[in-house]
Amino acid sequence: MKKPKPYLISEIFGPTIQGEGALIGCMSLFIRFGGCDYRCHWCDTLYAVLPEHKPEWEAMTTDIIMERVRALAPPPLWVTLSGGNPAMYDLSELVHALKTEGYQVACETQGSLAKEWFHALDMLILSPKPPSAGNITHADSLQACLEFAPLNTVLKIVCFDRDDYLYARNLFRFYAHLPAVIQIGTPTDLTEETDLIAHYRQMTTQLLGWMKADHLHHARLLPQLHRLLFEANRGI
Ligand code: SF4
Repeated sequence: MKKPKPYLISEIFGPTIQGEGALIGCMSLFIRFGGCDYRCHWCDTLYAVLPEHKPEWEAMTTDIIMERVRALAPPPLWVTLSGGNPAMYDLSELVHALKTEGYQVACETQGSLAKEWFHALDMLILSPKPPSAGNITHADSLQACLEFAPLNTVLKIVCFDRDDYLYARNLFRFYAHLPAVIQIGTPTDLTEETDLIAHYRQMTTQLLGWMKADHLHHARLLPQLHRLLFEANRGI
């Protein structure tokens, strides 16, 4: 019999609160997959991206992941598949196992790789990367992902500047039927609480002004709550 292919896992942790996007404030477990096809300038999870961190990643089958998940917390509870880019893997078996046990499954990906198993998710968070990331998510790959999108699909775009905002605005207008979130970007070197708050205030004022001028009223504007509450600490 063919042995199931293990996934490379950077970390499994929680339950903790989701700090971004449509599930902000909701309790969730997190499964962070190792590996990513992007190299964003401001990536805050490089330990789950760069190949030099591969020795830290653990090869796990669906059964082992399920054991870890059960040990952390029983359902009902959200489980968020994150990375890296979880869409680098075939997660159909894992999504099925989690849902069979009563977990709700969300997946966050940049929309570069379309996977059929997206349709089985309770929530797909497509987080296309804007100009400041250094590697834009192009419209055709995003469209390919949307072919497999579940009913509950959200567009979430990190914004650091005007170019990012214009990228987000255009996508939000084109996909006006999808819930939209502008996530205020946080520079990786910003750790002092007062600097973070000042940054979020300044960015909120600026982004809100642009959103009002463009009548972009269906989009939500959010800070990265986990950066405010937990800085860039891992596992919480
Ligand atoms: S897509 Fe996400 S995980 Fe990959 S490099 Fe960019 S920010 Fe990091």
